[in-house]
Amino acid sequence: MLTTQCPNCGSDVIVEEGSADQDLVSCLNCGAELEIASLAPLRLEPLDEEAEEADEE
Ligand SMILES: [Zn+2]
Repeated sequence: MLTTQCPNCGSDVIVEEGSADQDLVSCLNCGAELEIASLAPLRLEPLDEEAEEADEE
């Protein structure tokens, strides 16, 4: 299990090992949806909220 910082709030975000580029993860602290922009080094980017089209819960 890997962790990196949430670009939104700066807290640790857990990234499952075996995740791939462009997989989505959620920040448990602020709830932001983040996309894996890079695996090495591990880097997350916030999803553009305006681009959200998929179903929300
Ligand atoms: Zn966050």
